[in-house]
Amino acid sequence: GFNCGIVGLPNVGKSTLFNALTESGIGAENFPFCTIEPNAGVVGMPDPRLHKLADIVKPEKTIPTTMEFVDIAGLVSGASKGEGLGNQFLANIRETDAIAHVVRCFEDDNVIHVANQVDPASDIEVINTELALADLDTVEKAIKRVQRIAKSGDKTAKAQVELFEQLLPVLNEGKPVRSMNLDDDQMALIRELCLLTVKPTMYIANVDEDGFENNPHLDAVREIAEAENAIVVPICSKLEAEIAELEDEEKSVFLEEMGMEEPGLDRVIRAGYSLLGLQTYFTAGPKEVRAWTTRIGASAPKSAGVIHTDFEKGFIRAEVIAYDDYIEHNGEQGAKEAGKWRLEGKDYIVQDGDVIHFRFNV
Ligand code: GDP
Repeated sequence: GFNCGIVGLPNVGKSTLFNALTESGIGAENFPFCTIEPNAGVVGMPDPRLHKLADIVKPEKTIPTTMEFVDIAGLVSGASKGEGLGNQFLANIRETDAIAHVVRCFEDDNVIHVANQVDPASDIEVINTELALADLDTVEKAIKRVQRIAKSGDKTAKAQVELFEQLLPVLNEGKPVRSMNLDDDQMALIRELCLLTVKPTMYIANVDEDGFENNPHLDAVREIAEAENAIVVPICSKLEAEIAELEDEEKSVFLEEMGMEEPGLDRVIRAGYSLLGLQTYFTAGPKEVRAWTTRIGASAPKSAGVIHTDFEKGFIRAEVIAYDDYIEHNGEQGAKEAGKWRLEGKDYIVQDGDVIHFRFNV
């Protein structure tokens, strides 16, 4: 599975957001085969298509695909020097696939701000500086190591040293490496470094209920995000925490009263998903209709491997019906009769929404 680490200064609303996510999430008891840390929550991907498929197939179970969120509390100034539990926090961030950086954009005199005033630009700088300093340390060490290999004439190592040296001034300024727009080849050269500041990042602007418009704090976050290729998701986590506690029926009434189409959390979850370049395909049978996550551009065997490694190893063919065809023709039988059922081979690139049945050898 994929995961997204929630970072930010103390008192910006991380726990409130995390609790709302897990409250509305899928309990760990549904995932007996993974160890879930107490600060991690598995959240179902909101996807109306899954329910439309279930309406047609009427399966015993309907299972969404998921994303894990990890609350990485306590990243403070000085973390990169190992201050507080700094090193541990950085190690935790290193293990995540993407970063959700929560920024306080709400005013509330009852909630202490660590720097005594709400200032998103300066808050973001504090966190980004720590991440950049941690990366700087990584890159400096790597240069020494790779230089030795480069001396023996290794071309890749030479290219790495050259590129690593270009990262130094950027990181020294406290800027993230993702702001450099590296191409695929360059990304491959730095992959082994597992840098924190290349991880896909979104800023979660935590605003007050009435802070979605005409909010200079939110504007400040947007400006910073734009400059470094990050996205912004404005949300009121306090409100989301209240929504998450409601029963389904109350929830729809409440959302309607607030003029909201869906909980704001759904936007956070989806943003995490698209940040990672992920897409969904479905399996649909009488036992279960289920959504699965695969990378955009993944082949049919790779995507089959998400269900089980045997499906990938023994892959023969994929029976595929595009989502729209499946719905339009009211299921597999109808789609077959309309000539919308395809048999695809190992080179097939799975498309978002495909309804697939894999044929495989055991
Ligand atoms: P963390 O330290 O980043 O995990 O922050 P918390 O989630 O514990 O929130 C700190 C305080 O801010 C708590 O008292 C929350 O109730 C409050 N808080 C969180 N989000 C909001 C918000 O959107 N508006 C307001 N007014 N208060 C909030």
